[in-house]
Amino acid sequence: MHFKTDLYRRLRNQIEDISVIDCHDHTAGVAYGREWKEPIQSLIEGYFPADFISAGGEKVLEFLRDPEKPTAEKWPVFEKIWKRTEFTSYARVPKLILKRFYGEDKMTLEALLRIKDKLVKPKDETFYHDTLKTAGIRCRLVNIWIDLKKYIRGELTLPEIDRLLVPLPGFHAIRNFDAIHQITSILDRHVTSLDEYVDCCHTIFAKMKDRGTIGMKDQSAYTRSIRFEPTAKYEAEVLFNKIVHNPRNNLGYPEAKPLDDYLFHCFMRSARDLDLPVQIHTGHMAGNYNDIVKTNAALFTPVLELHRDVKFDLFHGNWPYSGELLYLAKNFPNVHIDLCWVSFIDPVYSASLLSQSLVTVPHCKIHGFGADTGDMPEYIVLHLEISRDVIAYALTDMIQKDWIDEEEAIRIAKDWLFNNPNEFFKLGFDSI
Ligand SMILES: [Zn+2]
Repeated sequence: MHFKTDLYRRLRNQIEDISVIDCHDHTAGVAYGREWKEPIQSLIEGYFPADFISAGGEKVLEFLRDPEKPTAEKWPVFEKIWKRTEFTSYARVPKLILKRFYGEDKMTLEALLRIKDKLVKPKDETFYHDTLKTAGIRCRLVNIWIDLKKYIRGELTLPEIDRLLVPLPGFHAIRNFDAIHQITSILDRHVTSLDEYVDCCHTIFAKMKDRGTIGMKDQSAYTRSIRFEPTAKYEAEVLFNKIVHNPRNNLGYPEAKPLDDYLFHCFMRSARDLDLPVQIHTGHMAGNYNDIVKTNAALFTPVLELHRDVKFDLFHGNWPYSGELLYLAKNFPNVHIDLCWVSFIDPVYSASLLSQSLVTVPHCKIHGFGADTGDMPEYIVLHLEISRDVIAYALTDMIQKDWIDEEEAIRIAKDWLFNNPNEFFKLGFDSI
């Protein structure tokens, strides 16, 4: 999404050279990297499959992802659905990958056959790190599920570019004894009460912080409402005892909600005491189906208002509820806005959210980029390209409205992309 003006082009060129912090991603190194054997398999990844399914492609997706099936055989099946959905922002990513990595302007069978022998290698260490480095990514905040026992003991180290977050839902969405045991075994402990469990989790968080973990991340919004009610300890304890006293018992949902809510609030106190910022999934969810209403950041207000000493980084522009998000960031000193993922869910919405934020929310509270993708460097950098476009678009818009000048626009872009997250997450880089 571009303005066809010199002002936009000038701004966009300068933004290209600004280093960025990738505020949210799901990989660490090439360990789980994919291998591409066939062009359609390599392009029908990331978030695009959700729109592909939405356009009626669910039944053919598995066939199209099969690396062994020939491209020519797949093409008529693929083309039919592609033509129905090629103008969404998710579809823009494979289009841009075709262009930037293979020099092809159009999605055609001929283009796909030409790139067959040139497919990039996401598992290749040099390709992986060079691609991120060339794009200007200095650091990534990663939400991954690694062996925390090994991590805490120093037997597992992340690539230098990556900073870990506590994957929080696993600690509070416990439904049975096995889930409790999975957590407590990180410290080789056995717990017999709710208090002991909370203490064990706090110790794990503290040890993770000692090893370089910089925050907590919670995506409970996929499976439950993000309204975490204040809950009497007694209510939580009854549920906890049910599963800890009898390992055969299982809690259902919403039966387990009071325990989940109670633990979440306990962990916010850990976040405060350990000075760990908390990233919260709000708004749109990956995949298809699901219930958007339960993810609206406005539901999270009681937590924000109670835990005033915890810093919250609210994700995904709360899409499609931008007004609520702007309100929260404006009124709550402990709320920042994170544009991870949303820039390429909806660039029009994101540019307008950014423009509007400039006149409503202190600009130090915006984190401008998060690739929020898997182990595919070509997708990561294309997500960054779109995010840079969105920032340039919003700032051009505000210059044209005579709200800021060009020099101020560049200062804002540096803060959004680098300085704000650097300071918020205490990453320790010199500001730019
Ligand atoms: Zn994510």
